[in-house]
Amino acid sequence: TAPTRLDAYRAPAWRVETVELDFELAIDSTEVTARLHLRRDPALPLPLRLDGENLELLSIALDGATLPPDMFRYTDNVLEVDGARDGSVLETRVRLRPATNTALEGLYLSGSAEAGFLLTQCEAEGFRHITFFPDRPDVQARYTVTLRADRDRFPVLLAGGNPDGAGVLDDGRHWARFVDPHPKPSYLFAVVAGRLQSIERDYVTADGRAVTLKIWSEADVIDRCDYAMDALERSMRWDEQTYGRNYDLDVFHVVATHDFNMGAMENKGLNIFNAKYLLADPDSSTDDEYRHVESVIAHEYFHNWSGNRVTCRDWFQLSLKEGLTVFREQSFAADMNSASLKRIEDVSLLRRAQFPEDAGPLAHPVRPAQYSEINNFYTATVYEKGAELVRMLAGCLGREGFRRGMDLYFARNDGHAATLEDFLGALGEANHTDLTPYLAWYGQAGTPRLQARGKYDAAAHTYALTLHQHTPATSGQPQKHALPIPVKLALFDGAGQMMILHMDGQTAKPQTECVVVLEADEQTFVFHDVPTAPVPSLLRGFSAPVILDCDYDATELALLLRHDPDGFNRWEASQQLATLAYVELRDGGASHALEAWLDALSALFAHNDIEPALLANLLTPPGEVEWAEREASVDPARIHALRQQLQRHLAERIGADALHQCYLVLAAEASLSLDAASQARRRLKQRVLELLCLADADTAQPLAATQYSSAPGMTDRLGALTVLLRSAAAQAPAALAHYRQRYDDNALALDKWFMAQAQVPGETALDRVSTLQRDASFTLKNPNRVQSLLGAFVRANPSGFHRADGAGYRFLAGQLVQLDALNPQVAARLATAFNGWQRLEPGRREAARTVIDGLADRDGLSRNLREIVANVRK
Ligand code: ZN
Repeated sequence: TAPTRLDAYRAPAWRVETVELDFELAIDSTEVTARLHLRRDPALPLPLRLDGENLELLSIALDGATLPPDMFRYTDNVLEVDGARDGSVLETRVRLRPATNTALEGLYLSGSAEAGFLLTQCEAEGFRHITFFPDRPDVQARYTVTLRADRDRFPVLLAGGNPDGAGVLDDGRHWARFVDPHPKPSYLFAVVAGRLQSIERDYVTADGRAVTLKIWSEADVIDRCDYAMDALERSMRWDEQTYGRNYDLDVFHVVATHDFNMGAMENKGLNIFNAKYLLADPDSSTDDEYRHVESVIAHEYFHNWSGNRVTCRDWFQLSLKEGLTVFREQSFAADMNSASLKRIEDVSLLRRAQFPEDAGPLAHPVRPAQYSEINNFYTATVYEKGAELVRMLAGCLGREGFRRGMDLYFARNDGHAATLEDFLGALGEANHTDLTPYLAWYGQAGTPRLQARGKYDAAAHTYALTLHQHTPATSGQPQKHALPIPVKLALFDGAGQMMILHMDGQTAKPQTECVVVLEADEQTFVFHDVPTAPVPSLLRGFSAPVILDCDYDATELALLLRHDPDGFNRWEASQQLATLAYVELRDGGASHALEAWLDALSALFAHNDIEPALLANLLTPPGEVEWAEREASVDPARIHALRQQLQRHLAERIGADALHQCYLVLAAEASLSLDAASQARRRLKQRVLELLCLADADTAQPLAATQYSSAPGMTDRLGALTVLLRSAAAQAPAALAHYRQRYDDNALALDKWFMAQAQVPGETALDRVSTLQRDASFTLKNPNRVQSLLGAFVRANPSGFHRADGAGYRFLAGQLVQLDALNPQVAARLATAFNGWQRLEPGRREAARTVIDGLADRDGLSRNLREIVANVRK
């Protein structure tokens, strides 16, 4: 089938004003009756065409009369109906088979046929797997949903909207009805039915609405939902205070499932969560996982305005809701925890996940121009780069200006399906400024390279900063244009003090930090009254998603690393310095940068007056994936070895004794407390243990073994297990066996058992993963399990996956073919691990090419996997 194109968008000829849906629910066979009240646009005299996939049509009637067979056609996933007019009511009845729906799209079964429950996933195009409908986000309808099911098997019946009655039928069944007063697109529809428990809390919104919050899960994990409830309440308050957004129904339900393709889903009034992002308890969740739960709860809740009340006109605008909501979620997390740490985490993720995507054959604009399978575009580019673009706009407008713009955006588009133009238009209009130049960011793929060159004129006391931008060509976009790039900057003097900035034509109050916007290929910005040659600190806070190339020398970076008052920029200086050190090691030349990095960090470590979480981050060099991005011919084994070498140098410079002492101090206060300070100390303790293991494994391994067995919670336990595994400690097998037994009935904890082993670097990883793949607990049917073993291996273990003989690639291809037959969405996501193969060194490249060609030539792949394989091959 031909791809869908943005420039081919047409408004819908037919809309649905209201829809009544009746479900007769059962595991093997569910019947769905839909009554669509249709509206027709008289200007678009097109036949009525509805989407529908894999539907068994039982009956069809138009305006109360059964339709004769020559009045409708159901072919190629489209139902075409003759004779409908404006105001017609179409009634269809279909049968679904939830128990055999392994794609987890539409209505499906979570868990076993005996004990599991039924649920739906409709974004992006799952609703057409439930009933015939114009399944596109610009068709917004009012939903009335009635569920009927056996009372013993399905004691809980839920749908989006407000409850509108329930009762018992005389044949052992019962029913429940829900009415959603807010018109919504079909992708926000949801139903849940089964044996579930709940926890409940009353909430009153800032504008006075009493809301019942309920979180639902299966009985065995209901005691792990409290943290999510707290996070939900914090999210709701924050959105009221920060954006003036109130919740708008009488109930808000959240449901946890172990079988979910994505992280979570913002269905109106009935969010559905991957259990991984909802359940949390100290015994099975790490600190990172707690923070993920808080963020994802916030993210889905925030969608109620940025996504649901204002939705997307079409799926090309996906970032309108996702980029914006990720940005909102990031701001919330920054307010809840530490802003600079949050920024470090987010920028690391962007560099690890989005930059490689933008640099390889899968590169696409934040607003893609075309797609074959929309599920393949839930990417780091649409989400994370999209959030960076919103952050840039917010930065341009300032806090109050951005709020003004958001108010106008929500007010003007409430109840509508909007575009990115509507978004930028409202932000600009509310601030009497034109933001349209920023639209170019949404249409152009690839990460811009920003080159900065400074020139100090000692006689004139001027500093001229020349910025130059260039974006490399990406697949299908050979020509790139200059983008507006805001560069936040400061100038430091030799003593590490920030200078007062005086710029050409600027009359504003002198400041130590300013933003210049590069609007052309190249521009020079001149600063006056600069007493000495400055060290520039550029792109502060990561003010634009670009790759900065500044000809810093090691001394300058070390100065920023020591003195920059901003935690993020300090970290950034350490990352750049570590990268220079890596290049020195790689090329076998001088070691100025290495020495500067080691000196600066060992001094910071010894002084011990720095925030522990920041110190842990400073002590961590960029990851292997980031460094691979710098190479023209990537040898992942070599990069891994160099990074290990660099860290060993660091461990030795700090010294085993100092590391040991620091570890003992931190270990003495082991606690379960979740406050930021406790989390930070656990993080530093882990980093110190890892470094100690490099400097002195004989000391570190027994400490790790003790930490494993006496750990009060999962952060310490998993951290210790990881150190034991990665250093091939004698104590590792016993710890693994213990873990396996202790968490045998805890799916999320067991996922981490698979993951920890899948991520152990080196050539032997594949053998371990192949063995685990045959483990009784491994199944391709559960997306979390697939991610924890196969995803962790192919994405987070470069030296293991990219084995020189290509066996990793052949293994992945074999798994993909099996997985694709069960779950195309998950298979396609996993296949993106082939991204970047063109830049591998020749041996690995040829091995990868053979495997990818073999996959591309196979018959019977899903549309999802086929599109990824075809794109990655380009
Ligand atoms: Zn989202």
